[in-house]
Amino acid sequence: MTPLVVVLSSPSGGGKSSITGRLLVERTDAGYSVSATTREPRPGEAAGEAYHFLAPDEFARRVEAGEFLEHATYNGHSYGSLVEEVRAVTRSGRHVLLDIEVVGARLVRERFPDAVLIFIVPPNGTVLADRLRARGTEPAEVVRARLERALHELDAAPGYDYVVVNDNLDDAVRAVHAIIDAESRRTSRQRDASVLLDRLRSEISAELARN
Ligand code: 5GP
Repeated sequence: MTPLVVVLSSPSGGGKSSITGRLLVERTDAGYSVSATTREPRPGEAAGEAYHFLAPDEFARRVEAGEFLEHATYNGHSYGSLVEEVRAVTRSGRHVLLDIEVVGARLVRERFPDAVLIFIVPPNGTVLADRLRARGTEPAEVVRARLERALHELDAAPGYDYVVVNDNLDDAVRAVHAIIDAESRRTSRQRDASVLLDRLRSEISAELARN
């Protein structure tokens, strides 16, 4: 199996983090690229698991050192995918999942034209607004800003390979599983397809010789 680079993006409240979490539990053939960020950890976020939390000067130093596959600014903070994180997962033969925003996704596509880009969307605007409000922690203007950003982020959807509607989490997770399963079976991605076909040819010829 050739490991895939799978990018998941969605507007805030679209549900990509829940989907990514489920995929990682349900697939032994996938791993996560832990991003670096300059934002502060939220309660419950462990360093090295949710993110690598870096001071801005450390982040800039690593950008200079070419350690990032991509990086972007979101909400005033820097976020980036580390080349080594992605490599570590693919080296182990697993698909690598990146939960990143739309600018980073475009940069990943430039670097890896074969990457599989999946855009997760809420079923409608009301559900999105309700999900953002249900977090309960954000003031109204923050919810409003997220909705405005969502509107802007939707413009990036045509650059993705797949759009998955997250109406029901189970259905959305199933859809992403199906995409990964199908993409990994593309003839062009199966390095050993010609070996398999050659073996089948000689086995069939041997069967023919026996009959
Ligand atoms: P949050 O701060 O809520 O965890 O993430 C904010 C946004 O940054 C989300 O859309 C998330 O997908 C995105 N993000 C997380 N890591 C990366 C990264 O490595 N690169 C880019 N470009 N975006 C990221």
